[in-house]
Amino acid sequence: MGVAYKLECDSCRYESNMFVGIGFAYCSLESIASFVEDAELKQRMLTFMKDSSTQYNAYDAVYVCPQCGGLQNELYIEMSSDSAQYKHTYNCKRCGTAMHEIQIEHNGPVDVVGCPDCRDGKLTATFYMDWD
Ligand SMILES: [Zn+2]
Ligand SMILES: [Zn+2]
Repeated sequence: MGVAYKLECDSCRYESNMFVGIGFAYCSLESIASFVEDAELKQRMLTFMKDSSTQYNAYDAVYVCPQCGGLQNELYIEMSSDSAQYKHTYNCKRCGTAMHEIQIEHNGPVDVVGCPDCRDGKLTATFYMDWD
């Protein structure tokens, strides 16, 4: 089961809902591939699915841009088999920089440089709901 957090800035009106964790749809690569929109990622998943030695790790995660502070809620996915290994990466939709994953804790400050909008404010995460 996953958890949804509401991120809020303490100095401007920025707020967004972020979903993190594992939903029921993540029980198989087939099921994940059915909602992945990125054609290249989908193709890689299909290749891994044909290999019986494939193992994977997938969950919803929050990514931050080190350049502009942009935040994105994306699918974390990593797959490995006896012959291949793949980890999907994301680039910031605002500036194109490679993003990195951050962890969000219950009702804690969010470990980012600053608010994506005003840059000066600090973001706080509040528990919003469980989802699956
Ligand atoms: Zn702000
Ligand atoms: Zn950026």
